[in-house]
Amino acid sequence: MIQLCLLGSTGSIGQQTLQVVKEHPDKIQIKVLTAQKNAKLLIEQAIQFLPEYVVIVDENFYLEVKDALKDYPIEVLTGKPALNDVVTLPEITHVLTALVGFAGLEPTISAINHQKKIALANKETLVVAGELINYLLQKNQVELIPVDSEHSAIYQCLIGEKPNEIHKIYLTASGGPFRTFQYEQLLNVTPAQALQHPNWSMGNKITIDSATLMNKGLEVIEAKWLFHLNNEQIEVVVHPQSIIHSMVEFVDGSIKAHLGLPNMKIPIQFALSFPERWVNNSYKKWDFVSHSQLTFEKPNLKLFPCLELAYYCLNKGGNSSCVLNAANEIAVEKFLNHQISFLDIPKTIEKVIKTVEFISYPTLNDLFETDKIARKFALEYA
Ligand code: NAD
Ligand code: MG
Repeated sequence: MIQLCLLGSTGSIGQQTLQVVKEHPDKIQIKVLTAQKNAKLLIEQAIQFLPEYVVIVDENFYLEVKDALKDYPIEVLTGKPALNDVVTLPEITHVLTALVGFAGLEPTISAINHQKKIALANKETLVVAGELINYLLQKNQVELIPVDSEHSAIYQCLIGEKPNEIHKIYLTASGGPFRTFQYEQLLNVTPAQALQHPNWSMGNKITIDSATLMNKGLEVIEAKWLFHLNNEQIEVVVHPQSIIHSMVEFVDGSIKAHLGLPNMKIPIQFALSFPERWVNNSYKKWDFVSHSQLTFEKPNLKLFPCLELAYYCLNKGGNSSCVLNAANEIAVEKFLNHQISFLDIPKTIEKVIKTVEFISYPTLNDLFETDKIARKFALEYA
């Protein structure tokens, strides 16, 4: 029986994870649920799944959650450090990291240091600290399974294969809502338009990242660390139907692809069930005839420079991807608040990358410091 700590249970991935849990009550038990500030949903989830602990990170909502759960055998905690503590509870076997942004890094490190199996949705953890995370995984002999659909696809294509027989991987990208736009059309796009993703329903931050193609840039970096690849081995291909979730090309020219309807519950379930596969007939299956057209394009780096910025940081190494991530988090927030335009997002990030001091071999403290400074510059520039 999996004893699950679900970080970020009120978000898009968090809620879908709880649906997977409902479909497999004999296989997964919820031990911990956490949320930033959505007290109402956290309370509902706690009453339904009866975890031992809930964490409401924002202290302003602590009393509301505490009061609502006072008749239940559930301990309510608050504050950011509580996340680092709850992942360490001895009975927890798996931690699914569905919180968004840099905030995912510390609790994930804490979970790895306590030998918990990691189901990783929070890609930002690998973007900012991939090398360090890989070191800790090895040191603690911990397994990390990706939840991100592209990386789950590649992980599955690689089962039974030898690492030195991979030629390259193709990460597929839907292209987002502005794939067919011209530069002039991008000048005035609104947050509401950018939040209309053609194929996936996700949290706001990743949806904007998908519109700028930064999401794919973050995923390139995520893939490097997950699969121990050289930078030249990772290629992005735009595939608007989102049926092929990614592909691996081997040294003999064979290509394996992973297909299915866009449905995050499949990679979520896989990350928890691996090395097994659990029967699940509750999802709509893909039908070849009604999706007879699968098309592919090159990404447009001129219109969507965020992807190029991510490749730049990947090649530069050190603390660059940490800078990229922090600047992006701030720029996206400002765009969502109507404070900057869509095209200002890459401009802000580029300026921050040029400003923050480069560190070739950052320690964890360097990364925290880098994140802080990059956010400060991004707030000034944006
Ligand atoms: P979301 O915004 O819907 O949910 C985020 C969750 O994290 C919420 O429960 C929120 O309360 C919590 N949270 C937010 N900020 C926090 C903070 N500072 N400290 C602690 N908790 C905080 O996001 P999402 O779309 O579910 O994405 C979660 C992660 O999964 C992201 O890293 C994203 O890139 C990744 N991901 C998401 C999808 C998807 O389909 N939604 C697909 C692939 C990868
Ligand atoms: Mg993805």
